[in-house]
Amino acid sequence: MRLLRNEPLKKHTSFRIGGPADYFCIPRNMAELKDALVFARERGLGTVIIGAGTNLLVLDQGFRGVVVKLAGGLNWIRVNGGRIEVGAGVHIAKLLQVLGNKKLGGLEFLAGIPGTVGGAIVMNAGAWGKEIADYVEQVLVIDRAGRQKILKRRVLGFGYRRSRLQGSRWILAQVVLKLRKKKRGLIRRKVRENLIKRKAAQPLGIPNCGSVFKNPKGDFAGRLIQEAGCKGMRIGDAQVSAKHANFIVNLGDARARDVIKLMTSVQKKVKDRFKIRLEPEIKIMVKSPS
Ligand SMILES: Cc1cc2nc3c(=O)[nH]c(=O)nc-3n(C[C@H](O)[C@H](O)[C@H](O)COP(=O)(O)OP(=O)(O)OC[C@H]3O[C@@H](n4cnc5c(N)ncnc54)[C@H](O)[C@@H]3O)c2cc1C
Repeated sequence: MRLLRNEPLKKHTSFRIGGPADYFCIPRNMAELKDALVFARERGLGTVIIGAGTNLLVLDQGFRGVVVKLAGGLNWIRVNGGRIEVGAGVHIAKLLQVLGNKKLGGLEFLAGIPGTVGGAIVMNAGAWGKEIADYVEQVLVIDRAGRQKILKRRVLGFGYRRSRLQGSRWILAQVVLKLRKKKRGLIRRKVRENLIKRKAAQPLGIPNCGSVFKNPKGDFAGRLIQEAGCKGMRIGDAQVSAKHANFIVNLGDARARDVIKLMTSVQKKVKDRFKIRLEPEIKIMVKSPS
């Protein structure tokens, strides 16, 4: 396992924000993941697990402990009929490509979501009224002591952008998905359509971390933020996107503190105008429970 010291985490988040991690690694397989956990435990260091860092705000002071990035590691995809075992580090785009080739459909709504499969399960990623939870059979998790366990879908507490894995001691290592046969052409067309819709609506060329706030029941955070007059609001290099009000973009050298101040101002304006408290969708990096 290759362990890096003082690795700038801004290199590992789509926001391009965040200070250094004391230790950082990308385990290639389960054995290396366990090595990283042992390394942290033996030294009494905190650990945090990330996927591709596309839903994540890392603080300016970084992280005093071990950051384990799974994107690029744990990257197996085993297809057995409609039952697919996927390592947590597989990129969603890669999974969709393999599923298309195997004529397995259902997950096309995920097209354009830039994270890992692990991050998608933990966050219960979704779009266009669908969410990944509906295709999960079970997951393989591992705790900080290296103990493995299989958890069935029903105990994972899935809800809108929510699962019981968030902030838990469990690290998701693999998911088993259940999918159905579908025509390859139909799958590819749907994926293409979804990518085009995203490109039209989202500020994809500028670093960001997707939707900042969850949609309140029956409404859209983007609509509320826009109507509260927040589009274009800026603190430092963090700006509420002019293209999609529920995105904050990093215009160059935004700091986490700028993003947090901007989020607080947006929440206040929406609260004053609509009496609705917006709840953050993005996760702020803190030490996970051991
Ligand atoms: C342009 C853009 C568009 C987006 N559009 C959407 C969208 O339409 N729908 C949507 O749902 N999301 C969207 N997102 C957000 C994001 O891509 C998803 O939440 C994605 O699933 C996060 O995956 P990740 O691997 O980047 O997770 P990360 O951001 O790395 O991690 C997210 C959280 O999960 C934890 N975590 C990650 N992997 C594991 C693991 N294996 N075990 C335990 N904990 C883990 C992390 O500690 C963190 O708390 C978008 C983001 C961007 C930048």
